[in-house]
Amino acid sequence: MQTLCHRALASLLLTAAAGPVLAEEERTAWRLFVSDHQDGIVSVLDPQSGETLARLPIGGPASLYRTESGKTVHAVQGAAGRVTAIASGIAFDDHGEHRDIEVGEARLLDVTFEGDSPSHFVEHHGDIALFFDGEGAARITTEAAILDGSVATEDHATDAPHHGAAAVFASHLLVSAPDPADPDELPIGIGVLTLAGEPVGDLHECPELHGEASSGNLMAFACATGLLVVRSQDGAPQVEHLAYPDGLPDGAVTTVIGGRGLQYFLGNYGPDAVVLVDPSAEEAFRLIELPTRRVHFAVDPIRAKYAYVFTEDGTLHRLDVLAGEVAGSLPLTEPYSMDGEWSDPRPRVAVAGDQIAVTDPLRGLVHLVDAESFETAGEVAVEGMPFNVVAIGGTGFVPE
Ligand code: ZN
Repeated sequence: MQTLCHRALASLLLTAAAGPVLAEEERTAWRLFVSDHQDGIVSVLDPQSGETLARLPIGGPASLYRTESGKTVHAVQGAAGRVTAIASGIAFDDHGEHRDIEVGEARLLDVTFEGDSPSHFVEHHGDIALFFDGEGAARITTEAAILDGSVATEDHATDAPHHGAAAVFASHLLVSAPDPADPDELPIGIGVLTLAGEPVGDLHECPELHGEASSGNLMAFACATGLLVVRSQDGAPQVEHLAYPDGLPDGAVTTVIGGRGLQYFLGNYGPDAVVLVDPSAEEAFRLIELPTRRVHFAVDPIRAKYAYVFTEDGTLHRLDVLAGEVAGSLPLTEPYSMDGEWSDPRPRVAVAGDQIAVTDPLRGLVHLVDAESFETAGEVAVEGMPFNVVAIGGTGFVPE
């Protein structure tokens, strides 16, 4: 049930009486969570002040994932074999016509999930699926349970250890199926299960499955042959294969992210291009070529028509996802060649309100770019090698 906070009630009463509107105190707060390339540490930065708010010790170098609500960040430490939950310290309380913001300390929650080679982390509407490659198993929990301090999970094993992924979608479980001929290869498809673990229908083929994302009410998995697009129909997931068209050059999506505000997917495609995917469009795939090889990409959750791609020449590009073209390029760092190991330290991108944050691991910096003007707007020093980054924040009324 929705309750009116004190302020909403006061403002409603005043509006009804056509009296003066209360001077309501708005607050904007953003935080960058930055993991280190070498060490088990997550730095929490305030991009506005440039201050380091906290340095949170975790087990090892981590990939970071934020949830839709922004209440938690999850540090997946593949080599260290654990997933550590972090409370972002920022929470929004939606009151319909406005929202309240509560700002507290970012801190480690006393919740870690230990296991063999955790890899893909998928959160969807508060449901969390952790996949442990070394076990070939998905562990399912919720953000609410984690915030309550619970480490309990529902576990679903697959036929063999493999580099897989799982997701909770439309009250069902989607789980990758390992290649029976060689589970060390990428998975061959997605199975749908009830939450009790009963299979529903046949395997949905997705050769060399790698990468998943959601956008609006859709979820997508990337395959060698196209994308599996999942929608909710009659309370169950409906899975459809969207093949790469003949017009695309040879290639495949292996990393996919989902648009916010606009429903689309953005994937890598070969080393020096990205592909925009609009499953509802007649021509669902639009290729955007880049001047050099691609390092990382992110969508803009606020300016929905933009996404950003960082390339190895040290340049950040602004993509206009409606026009399907690069609409601005900003040199930002020294070159970060894509030669060498895939895991070498290279920049990562996240959008924090009106600023785009780009990590620069070799210089120990996070660059800030004004998202409106697309010009540089300062930098924040970070100890060590700032690597993966997620942003959490927004604007709300300060509750009394
Ligand atoms: Zn992976």
